[in-house]
Amino acid sequence: MEEQGKGPEVHGGAAPLELDPEEFRELGYRVIDRITEFLKSLPSKPVAPNESATSIRNLISLPFPHEGQPARPLLEHAFDLLVDHSTFNSHPRFWGYITGSPAPIGALGDLIAAALNPNLGKWILSPMGTEIEGQTVRWIAQMLAYPTDCGGLLVSGGSMANFVGFLAARRAKAPWPVRAAGAVDPKRGRLRVYTSTETHLWVQKAADLFGLGTDSIRWISTDERFRMDPVALRKNIEEDLRRGDLPFLVVGTAGSVSTGAVDPLPELAALCKEYSLWFHVDGAYGGFAAVLPEASADLRGIVEADSVAVDPHKWLYAPLEVGCALVRDPKTLHDTFSYRPQYYHLVEDPDEKAINYYEYGPQNARGFRALKVWLCLRQAGREGYKRMIGDNIRLAESLYELVSECGELEALSNSLSITTFRYVPQDLKGSADAEPYLNRLNSELLTSLQAGGEVFLSNAMLRDKFALRTCIVNFRTSIEDIRALPELVVREGARIDATLRPR
Ligand SMILES: *Cc1c(COP(=O)(O)O)cnc(C)c1O
Repeated sequence: MEEQGKGPEVHGGAAPLELDPEEFRELGYRVIDRITEFLKSLPSKPVAPNESATSIRNLISLPFPHEGQPARPLLEHAFDLLVDHSTFNSHPRFWGYITGSPAPIGALGDLIAAALNPNLGKWILSPMGTEIEGQTVRWIAQMLAYPTDCGGLLVSGGSMANFVGFLAARRAKAPWPVRAAGAVDPKRGRLRVYTSTETHLWVQKAADLFGLGTDSIRWISTDERFRMDPVALRKNIEEDLRRGDLPFLVVGTAGSVSTGAVDPLPELAALCKEYSLWFHVDGAYGGFAAVLPEASADLRGIVEADSVAVDPHKWLYAPLEVGCALVRDPKTLHDTFSYRPQYYHLVEDPDEKAINYYEYGPQNARGFRALKVWLCLRQAGREGYKRMIGDNIRLAESLYELVSECGELEALSNSLSITTFRYVPQDLKGSADAEPYLNRLNSELLTSLQAGGEVFLSNAMLRDKFALRTCIVNFRTSIEDIRALPELVVREGARIDATLRPR
């Protein structure tokens, strides 16, 4: 340390970020020991901390260090902070939002990936990494029964995977050179996107970011099970064609965020063929359920899409972050993203096997996300995934039944592994006037359940009803965990009702 800042140009001794190999080994073992203890203690930990953002921020009110510090206490400190002040999606009772419980082998894969640090932007920088990504993408396609000669790559998550499909659609269907000219031609009608009102917010981000504007989206109504109505879709397309607008993309959802609804994908695919539109399926949540033998025909319709987004950090239980985009025609994917700058020395590959992934997606430098997914797919295999995904769905169905049998709970929906319900005090049953109060009560109930740390749920708005929402994407959840939920909700619900309506 003495020499730092003193040498004329080059410092002697180890660089400030170097770790002596034996020190690295010792720290590595220590970190693995701590992770192991964490995993063992998970079921007895609160799912989420009950602390304010201010109090958590204050825990690390550290100045930017002037001098460096030894690695070991830093790692211990980081682990302590995180283990005591985090929300754990690895907890058996985490059922909020849609984040998979992370597979331990995926965590180890990420460690290897970070240590070897291949750059999957170019083949030459990651020969084996690139091949592993290619195989991972093909295996993912196989899980969906999608053609394995499709184009595809891994990205940061479902939103980005959907963006890739959106951009491929824009490139393929805009009747002008959209990459050079932009997404709006003032002399022509407007490009139009069709999607259901249940679609995830990524579609707004995409229309906004990629120059169409959110007004280009036609929001199609849904049926009583929250599935896109193909009759309304056709009507909207016809109206836009008459107006001179340019319909180009229909987005179907395989597993909506709120209720797990699956659009009638085969019908949507047929409509897209008829009008020559691009058919993209957002399968970020539900796509992988297509691996199940009992998957519905609607869900299996995913195979007809021109592009698909799935999210391995959801139902493949890979640690964050990783999404996957598939595009039926690999050439379209290439045409959507490729540039060939002079400063890239791209060696011609006589077999045309060397994929440079920077030409197939939005990123340039790319991390080795594939390794964790590849390891998960190999550890569990197709049968392992059928069992885990199938169990999650069965647990959600059991919850729906348990809730239906409980006098003070109202079951609202069940599809895939999402069940929604709400707490309704006995005396308010069947009273239409009580709706605003029930929304307030259940909203406060959710806040209280999240703060309590015993379970972690989220919410959905179902036709103006505030619902508690459990989404089970968790291979650690058991039927006992599910059986415990109704009683807990009723206990907390009664307590909050008593504070809101003192009698
Ligand atoms: C989760 C989800 C997304 C967004 O995926 P991220 O990985 O959070 O970016 C998009 N659509 C659906 C249906 C989802 O469930």
